Amino acid sequence: MFEFSDEQKMAQTMLRQWCEKELAPSVAKMEKGEILPYDLMRKLGRTFGLDEMARGAFARLEAREARGEAAGLKSKEDEEDDGGPGGFARDPAISAIVGMELSRVCPGFTLAFGATLGLAGGAIMAKGTFAQKKRYALPILTLEKIGAWSMTEPNAGSDAFGGMRTVARRDGDGYVLNGQKTFITNAPFADVFVVYAKIVDDANPDPRTRPIHAFLLEKGHPGLSVSKPMDKMGMHSSPTGEVFLADVRIGREHLLGEKEKDPSKEGARDVFHGERTGMAPMCLGIVDRCLEDSLKYAKERTAWGRPIAEYQLMQDKLARMYMHRENIKNLLFKQLWMAKNGKRQSMAEASACKLYCARSTTEVALEAVQIMGGNGYMREYHVEMLMRDAKLLQIGGGTDEIQIVTIARALLA
Ligand SMILES: Cc1cc2nc3c(=O)[nH]c(=O)nc-3n(C[C@H](O)[C@H](O)[C@H](O)COP(=O)(O)OP(=O)(O)OC[C@H]3O[C@@H](n4cnc5c(N)ncnc54)[C@H](O)[C@@H]3O)c2cc1C
Repeated sequence: MFEFSDEQKMAQTMLRQWCEKELAPSVAKMEKGEILPYDLMRKLGRTFGLDEMARGAFARLEAREARGEAAGLKSKEDEEDDGGPGGFARDPAISAIVGMELSRVCPGFTLAFGATLGLAGGAIMAKGTFAQKKRYALPILTLEKIGAWSMTEPNAGSDAFGGMRTVARRDGDGYVLNGQKTFITNAPFADVFVVYAKIVDDANPDPRTRPIHAFLLEKGHPGLSVSKPMDKMGMHSSPTGEVFLADVRIGREHLLGEKEKDPSKEGARDVFHGERTGMAPMCLGIVDRCLEDSLKYAKERTAWGRPIAEYQLMQDKLARMYMHRENIKNLLFKQLWMAKNGKRQSMAEASACKLYCARSTTEVALEAVQIMGGNGYMREYHVEMLMRDAKLLQIGGGTDEIQIVTIARALLA
């Protein structure tokens, strides 16, 4: 059985206090786009020493690099430094607590935070050369720079690998990139872009089956441009945009890992896996907050002279919310137990977890609005935002249907 340790519980209390004091007062402005989430992220990083942790991890990495140690000789600490973006990811339970606590208050903020640190930073840390980690990932992990992980295209979302049309043509020792990405979190304001493209290979004329590679670009690179933030249903605190690549000339040092023989499909799959498992804490945060606010409201609001909490139809909703919260918590704790014991969920397990968590979170958030009636529909009540934000969890990181396809494929294999 998995439980948070006393130290982890203490971190949770501190994070909750930080979120109430620093994050909550800024949510209305972030949601309206009047302020961006990035300065607050930096404040969070400084408060909890994220930047120092990342620098420490890099100093160890650099020392190891200077010693020229073989990969097989890594210490456990080294493995942790390699495997995740320094600070939070060193302890998956702390990572989960961060996701939960931020999402109780503002899931959009969590999305922007997770996309830069986990998706962009994580992809570079997992597959980059040391020089690439130092140049592109370190400033992301210290939150000096913001990253965007750019896979989806206008005609390649669920069918991300097969449908991808962004190309990298060989040009001397480098490449020329052309294409377009869409729905990319942080893109309008990002400094570093992890961009996936297919290397044009005359020996393989079928664009569907060409290998996929990741490339690293920085804001201001000639030919790279981004759109304004897109107008969305929810997750307003997380800017989303398009990325345009028009004859972007780059040297080989921009190819993630710098090895053409090491295509990035597996690396991208790892990121998908991480996105799927990483959804549970966000869901738990949203569900927990919906239940808490709904309980309070149902006890205070009266109709026909009685608190609505006394009506069985309301109790049914509250009980179902509690049931989902317990189930999501159990799924998350199983994940954390597995991580602690060096086990990895299969893709089907990760998909089943994401499917259940995302669907039940949307249901819970909708029911929270219902319990609050007209008030629930008003911006002033927090559940209205949580409901719109929850819907994204059934689409981003692989839709519900794609999770079902993945599970069915594993069952029928
Ligand atoms: C707010 C937001 C942030 C995002 N952030 C990022 C990001 O940072 N980086 C990034 O790369 N992407 C990002 N995405 C993109 C996201 O991952 C895609 O939107 C998602 O994968 C779905 O792709 P699509 O939108 O093209 O839908 P489509 O693939 O066009 O799907 C449309 C519908 O068809 C269904 N469908 C498709 N194929 C099948 C099938 N085989 N069987 C059954 N049904 C099917 C889908 O489930 C869906 O219901 C983001 C999206 C949003 C909305």
